[in-house]
Amino acid sequence: MGDTGAVTRMESVPAATTVSQILAGLGPALDEAFVSTRRARPPVTADADGPLPEDGAGLDAVVGELAEHVRATITLTAPEFCGWIAQGPSESAVAARIAVAAGGLKYFLHPMNHLEHVALGWLADLCGIPRSAAGEFVSGGSVANLVALGAARQHAWERHGVDVAEHGLPAQPQSRVYASVFAHRTIHRSAGVLGLGRSAVVPIAVDAAGRMRPDELARAMEADRRAGHVPVAVVAVTGTTDIGSIDPVAEVVEVARAHDCWVHVDGAYGLTAHASDRFRDRFDGVADADSWIVDPHKWLATGAGVGAVYVRDADLLTRAFAQGHAAYFDDVAAGEHDVVSAYDGLGGHWTERGVEMTSPPRGVMVWAVLRELGRRGVAARVDHHVGLAALLAREVRTDPRLDLALEPELSIVCFRHLAPAGVDANNLNAEIVRRLHREDGLVPSTTKLDGRVYIRPCFINPRQTEGHVKELLAAVRHHGAEILGPAR
Ligand SMILES: *Cc1c(COP(=O)(O)O)cnc(C)c1O
Repeated sequence: MGDTGAVTRMESVPAATTVSQILAGLGPALDEAFVSTRRARPPVTADADGPLPEDGAGLDAVVGELAEHVRATITLTAPEFCGWIAQGPSESAVAARIAVAAGGLKYFLHPMNHLEHVALGWLADLCGIPRSAAGEFVSGGSVANLVALGAARQHAWERHGVDVAEHGLPAQPQSRVYASVFAHRTIHRSAGVLGLGRSAVVPIAVDAAGRMRPDELARAMEADRRAGHVPVAVVAVTGTTDIGSIDPVAEVVEVARAHDCWVHVDGAYGLTAHASDRFRDRFDGVADADSWIVDPHKWLATGAGVGAVYVRDADLLTRAFAQGHAAYFDDVAAGEHDVVSAYDGLGGHWTERGVEMTSPPRGVMVWAVLRELGRRGVAARVDHHVGLAALLAREVRTDPRLDLALEPELSIVCFRHLAPAGVDANNLNAEIVRRLHREDGLVPSTTKLDGRVYIRPCFINPRQTEGHVKELLAAVRHHGAEILGPAR
């Protein structure tokens, strides 16, 4: 001890060194960020340069500059933001994030890690996933889908006598994954990463409501069976990203079981709606699946970086993802000796059940939101948001200038402004959305259905009200009229 390095470090630390001082510096800027998207905010391009500073500016400078950046940043927490399926953390999740800053890793036997386990159980209950399934928090739906399909791959090929995790995939026969045309692209990416190939994903047609057609699924699986392909998984999406449609899971399970195939439920966005009595029957069959994902950073507003994956068979998950023996963990192999200190166990099988190792206890954010709201609170939020979507759909239907793509099933609405002859409706709607972003700070996104551009708000933000729906509608009408001109 007593080395000069320690002394030098001490001397370079500026006055504002406590976390409460840091929070006092950042807090006002964060409060502003929650309020509105409408703040002066020049775009920042990504090609930032500048050399690595030779000398540090100190903690005060960091806190001060961070506060400025927060003031100028885009605000996913504001209710005018209704694009994609994204939002910032609600207040209890912010509190959890601050707590996690002190709470360290998801390993070992300490309270934050314990809260992860609690949250996994609560989230399973909320979403209709069997409690007995092995769960894990990961960075989001992308990694969650990858882990679930990795387990499905292990399962399918073990039946052909191949341990893929150990020996890799044989060149033949080919693997197949079935998913509706509305499935998220992370399914295809997972198939690519897992060595099945993106082309292994067979797109299944949907009905008029955007739900996977079980008869089309059966036809595709039957044809592949005859061709000798290996069915790895059928993906049922409960809440598609484009339109919020829910695949008929019970029927999908039936078809998949006839082919002895794994069923994966991608509930990244929509499975949270299982919390509500009003929508639960739309998720019939979910409990019979083999794997599930849900993204708490979507409807549960934990802030980005929190996804969850569950697999029915924990041993299978371990066979697919075990990192293998590591001598440096011998001391903390849980159960091998009496637990006395928090370091006497890893607190879970985290290193054996996924693709990450060192990672934060993300479940603490989920615990905080579920502890704050309870099942009823989440259900009330879901009901409220689905109600906002229904209100918007009603208003659109009664306005001859507007066109509703289809009845919303959850909280995503696809609608567009109609164009008179000679005007390109796609350009018109894209321009309307650009003006909403630039002039009004209203931020829906767009999607394309059957070649048509639709304005696509998604309501998942706890601060959104009927007033925001009406404001969005009024602005769309206003820009439509302005672009088309007074003669229209
Ligand atoms: C958002 C989403 C994903 C991807 O999740 P990320 O958290 O963005 O990685 C996967 N599937 C569906 C249905 C989604 O809506």
